[in-house]
Amino acid sequence: MAQQFQIIVVGSGFSGTLMAMIAHQLGFSTALLERGRHPRFVIGESSTPLANLLLEQISDEFNLPSVRPLSKWGTWQKQTPHLPCGLKRGFTFYHHTLGRFFEPNPGRGHQLMVGASPHEEVADTHWYRPDFDLYLVQQAQALGVTYLDEIELTGAVEESNAMRLRGRRRGEPLEFSASFVIDASGPRGFLHRVLALPEKPTAGMPPTQALFSHFTGVKELPACFHADAQSPPYPPEQAAVHHVFEGGWIWVLKFNNGITSAGVAATDSLAQQLEFRAGESAWKRILKLLPSLALMFRPAKAVVPFIHQPRVAFQSAVVAGRCWTLLPSAAGVIDPLLSTGFPLTLLGVVRLACALKSLDRPTEWAITLRDYAHSTTLELEATARLVGALYSCMNRFELFKKLSLLYFAAASFSESARRLGKENLADSFLLCRHPVFSAQLREFCEMAHQSLSASGAVELSRRICEAIEPFDVAGLNDAARDPWYPALTRDLFANASKLQAGKGEIRTMLDKCGLA
Ligand SMILES: Cc1cc2nc3c(=O)[nH]c(=O)nc-3n(C[C@H](O)[C@H](O)[C@H](O)COP(=O)(O)OP(=O)(O)OC[C@H]3O[C@@H](n4cnc5c(N)ncnc54)[C@H](O)[C@@H]3O)c2cc1C
Repeated sequence: MAQQFQIIVVGSGFSGTLMAMIAHQLGFSTALLERGRHPRFVIGESSTPLANLLLEQISDEFNLPSVRPLSKWGTWQKQTPHLPCGLKRGFTFYHHTLGRFFEPNPGRGHQLMVGASPHEEVADTHWYRPDFDLYLVQQAQALGVTYLDEIELTGAVEESNAMRLRGRRRGEPLEFSASFVIDASGPRGFLHRVLALPEKPTAGMPPTQALFSHFTGVKELPACFHADAQSPPYPPEQAAVHHVFEGGWIWVLKFNNGITSAGVAATDSLAQQLEFRAGESAWKRILKLLPSLALMFRPAKAVVPFIHQPRVAFQSAVVAGRCWTLLPSAAGVIDPLLSTGFPLTLLGVVRLACALKSLDRPTEWAITLRDYAHSTTLELEATARLVGALYSCMNRFELFKKLSLLYFAAASFSESARRLGKENLADSFLLCRHPVFSAQLREFCEMAHQSLSASGAVELSRRICEAIEPFDVAGLNDAARDPWYPALTRDLFANASKLQAGKGEIRTMLDKCGLA
């Protein structure tokens, strides 16, 4: 006999578990099926303001109070201090020339710091996923979601108004039936494989590979990174720290339990040259080329075996069927360069949650599901386009910085619009449904792939400034700040009209969100 549920979610990472909790709160009988066992190592750790805002929204709209503390550093430390995490005040970038020590220069030409929060209390976090995901699964079980781990799913058949899943648990055959299946099993995951869904090229992204682990004993950034007399907008390591060089970049994320997450993503040619597939020895080879980082990692020890991902970017050409869909994280992954995985996924969770309310109204349901699939595809494409362009500018750092402002402008505008309850102003990631901004982003990304003359690069930079101006609520176009952009609430007052808001509305929003 098949076990019957209205909703089955496959995969209990944070997104699948949140989705299952939401479905349960909406009144559906819900099962959450997991291949492995918690706690387990998983990559994808650094959060952003938009991701955290979406966590808050999920917590409030679906009565999930146990999720809310995780949306800010301050509440996390007060209410769930037993869960390790990292403090993230912003995005820190340093540009390195391979084979040389990092060189601070008087104009700070080799760095970029973009603040995400005006103070620590409301700051973002890095999620220590073994404990973070386990905590969410425990909350789901406490709520009444049926959770089964160590399930090996082997098949899925779409029937006229249900999905049938087959599998095994500890050697015993199992069968499940559900009105709707949500696949949260990650890229190239369960439904992608068993339904033999086609893959689509990730527009604009070069083929890349990744190599990563968790470490203990990582030292602080060496003195050469702090050589500036002035204080930066936030302590540079209380951030997602990106070390960018020709062909790739390294991330360093510090948790408050002594663990540091670090890894490298690089184009195929660099990854092959360094033999990423060899694991730890390749990590040592890349550090040799980055002597300032080698100083930091000299005493470090990897505490989990190195993981090599031979291909990072992936996008499924099909996102939904009649009785199933892929969450954005199962529909695609691009690259962690701008920490886009969480917000893309949580936007999808929120959209699907709203769509589920119409599951018993077939016409409306079909439209909302189609819209969900379309948005997911568009958002992954826009992300791939921008991150791909950033890859081609890794050794043209001035242009890299300018291009990245397209992301920071769209993200801070979207966050502020949502906080003001004006979602209609920014209903898509990277404003990819905005006809003007999205067309400009596409054009600029295509231009960035070309080898531009000095005057061509200046012209592109000028046009980027012009394009972000109507959305810049964070002082990103203030040339005097370049390359240190603190998160200042006064920028919101100065740019209230771009958000179609009065100064009073901004003040109320800042007070309500604890941002003041
Ligand atoms: C190298 C790298 C670094 C990244 N860093 C960041 C970052 O800093 N910030 C960010 O926002 N995003 C980042 N991302 C993206 C991020 O990893 C994903 O967005 C995020 O992990 C998605 O979470 P999830 O819960 O949807 O899926 P996952 O975390 O992938 O969890 C999937 C779950 O499904 C289970 N599963 C898999 N197959 C099956 C099956 N057949 N049956 C049942 N269960 C199954 C797995 O065991 C797992 O528990 C990164 C991605 C990569 C590749």
